[in-house]
Amino acid sequence: MREKLRILLIGAHPADAFDNAGGTLCHHSRQGDQVTSLVLTQGTRIHDKEISVAMSKSSIVPEAAVLQQLIQQRSQVKRQEVKDACALLGIDDVRFLEYDDAVMTVNEPLILSVARVMREVRPHLLITHWPGEWGGYADQHAITAQIALNALQAAGGVYPGDPNPPHRTTQVFFMATPSCLARTHVFSNQAGYYADVIVDISDVIDLKIRALDCLRSQSYNGAYARKRVESVDGSLGLFATGGRAAYAEGFIRQYSETHDLLPVTEKALNWTKMTEIEQMDAFCKLVAHTIPEKAVSE
Ligand SMILES: [Zn+2]
Repeated sequence: MREKLRILLIGAHPADAFDNAGGTLCHHSRQGDQVTSLVLTQGTRIHDKEISVAMSKSSIVPEAAVLQQLIQQRSQVKRQEVKDACALLGIDDVRFLEYDDAVMTVNEPLILSVARVMREVRPHLLITHWPGEWGGYADQHAITAQIALNALQAAGGVYPGDPNPPHRTTQVFFMATPSCLARTHVFSNQAGYYADVIVDISDVIDLKIRALDCLRSQSYNGAYARKRVESVDGSLGLFATGGRAAYAEGFIRQYSETHDLLPVTEKALNWTKMTEIEQMDAFCKLVAHTIPEKAVSE
């Protein structure tokens, strides 16, 4: 039996963990691994119906104190949504740094806060965004990843006031998000990477959709959740080689791996034993997996 793993996912915004790696986290949680999700920002400035969306249509915004209070209120709403979503996926350790998402830069206080969490959680595996997302320019996902990588270095040493000893992770997995996969931006066109690890999440796709349904404050529930899963997870599954999946999540490893033998998965071996027609039949059966048609709230 393999050692139980500790996994830390560091995401920029409340929905990032489920959107990009919810199915994978659910699998690990079911295997008894310890999964921690760390959300860096409140996500209210760019991802909230009542602040970022409604106010962009009004002629004037509330005065500073009132606006600040509203941001705090909406942040609480989003925190609860995230907790509800995580509970569906079996993730009970959810942490929020509550950083203001107005301007995000790679900064020392945030790096030190994240490093402190790393020394405490002591993850074998770290999951975060691709540090070059949208070219890495003014993108909160990319900046979050850069903060996480800097924090990883900082966590490798002691820090005054932190009782936890230094920590090093075994591997870093970057999430292969739509912006990694789609070349629809002049900066993303510089990309030279692809998802080299595919996780088949067909068996828990309904839970991932239900988790996205919880994110009502940013309208991820309902049609968006279903379209998102079909277009991104469905594409990754369809084009995954060596054992196609109806739905999959993709990752990019930071470090090359050391093995005693050349690695090959059982899933890939079984897939290649089938004829092309048998593969098509197997794939169609997977696709027939039930996707909940409507969000509970609809
Ligand atoms: Zn995000």
